[in-house]
Amino acid sequence: MRYAVISDVHANMEALKAVADSITATGVETVVCLGDTVGYGPEPQAAVAAVRELAAVSVLGNHDRAVFTEGAEARFNEWAEDAIRWTREELDAEEIDFLSSLPLSLVHEGALLAHASPRNPASWAYVMDEHDATAQFGGFDETLCLIGHSHEPGFFEWDGTKAAELVGDVLVMESDKRYIVNAGSVGQPRDGDPRAAYAVVDRDELRVDIIRVEYDTERTGRKIVQAGLPAFLAERLTHGT
Ligand code: ZN
Repeated sequence: MRYAVISDVHANMEALKAVADSITATGVETVVCLGDTVGYGPEPQAAVAAVRELAAVSVLGNHDRAVFTEGAEARFNEWAEDAIRWTREELDAEEIDFLSSLPLSLVHEGALLAHASPRNPASWAYVMDEHDATAQFGGFDETLCLIGHSHEPGFFEWDGTKAAELVGDVLVMESDKRYIVNAGSVGQPRDGDPRAAYAVVDRDELRVDIIRVEYDTERTGRKIVQAGLPAFLAERLTHGT
């Protein structure tokens, strides 16, 4: 059983279309989404429609939540805050209803899905390093947890005592260990690689691949500027930061 994991699309349709084409090319039929479909990017309506079409299940992200939670935008940096206010005006009531219906976490094929972190998804805590990951493994029972939020793809392995960060873009899971996998971001990567990121989980082969896909960052950037969103949000896409 294989499935694709997308996260942090952030209303970037050029990136999402490129990822959807790549998923089709790999022959994977099921897609799950880890949230933050909107925020930062210029096409929130199209992104919500595409994720609803593409993903079998989705969990809620902090930007998704901020769009339907008056006042929540004040907790974000200024660029994100501007984009949340703008996105709120763009989406219709039915799209907002869809976002507000999403769960904070769910279990798919035995794996726990959460946007930010598994222990307390509503805290939106980041899992950036081994210290953060060690604190998370006690907070869930599943062998595999899939997250996004940091926009940096990566793997953490739990040996029963402590977490270790594994390098590379392929994870081969050992049957006596547990894992947190960050699928990275489709629409705003921040690991220095501007290509869109997603993951493919193969439960039979005990393997996860992080896949990178080139897309037209300049085109999305132009749409960001045309929408009146902060120019920094366009510029960062070209660097992947
Ligand atoms: Zn995000």
